[in-house]
Amino acid sequence: MWIDSHCHINDEAFDEDREDVLRRMKENGVLKAMIVSLNKEELEKTRKIEYEGLTFKRSIGVYPEDSYRFSEEEIRNIYEEFRSPDIAAIGEIGLDYHWDKDHKERQKEVFYEQLLLAKQLDKPVIIHAREAAEDTYKLIKESGVRKGVMHCYSGSKEMAREFVKLGFYISLAGTITFKNAREPKEVALSVPLDRLLIETDCPYLTPVPHRGKRNEPSYVVHTGSFIAELLGMEEEEFRKQIEKNYDELFGIV
Ligand SMILES: [Zn+2]
Repeated sequence: MWIDSHCHINDEAFDEDREDVLRRMKENGVLKAMIVSLNKEELEKTRKIEYEGLTFKRSIGVYPEDSYRFSEEEIRNIYEEFRSPDIAAIGEIGLDYHWDKDHKERQKEVFYEQLLLAKQLDKPVIIHAREAAEDTYKLIKESGVRKGVMHCYSGSKEMAREFVKLGFYISLAGTITFKNAREPKEVALSVPLDRLLIETDCPYLTPVPHRGKRNEPSYVVHTGSFIAELLGMEEEEFRKQIEKNYDELFGIV
């Protein structure tokens, strides 16, 4: 089986044809997925997503840009969900300096709060870091959190190694299939196999050969095949390793 370790099939981009998207997951052998919620409404929607033969895990967290957009109350409401038994991970949380440079302190504050809550609850974190690798690394290290994944990792292989040393997994998305994607390929080749994950981050970051269209979990097959070939591995062996990594990070049930 294939696994999509990070998707947003709760997004309104799938409201019209979610059943078809789920059916294609099953047809393509993408049987497990982590559904990430960015707010309570998305989480409620996620709790209703079911499909025979598919197993979903759920996460929720305050997204970097929402740390200054959301009210204190909205943020508290999300934090309250962290302890729910059906929440397997806290995220996506982190820092994004690409879109926002004016609220760095607020971003760091909310990120750190969530790291501490994750540690208290002993749940893994899903990290979104864009043009903020150094600060992200520093805060994780300080927090004592040693269990999580760098989602849609876009940094250097050197930095990836540092995150791996902290106990983190590195998750690669469809961007690795793009012709000019040098760095993600270097990362795939240098990260220990038992720390690698793959994801779609759908509806965004659609892999080749569907680039330009809406992304969906069944397309994780293209990213997975691409990486298996890059590593010179049998697809079957690669799939098994990814499943093992996913189960180890997020738990089997
Ligand atoms: Zn995401």
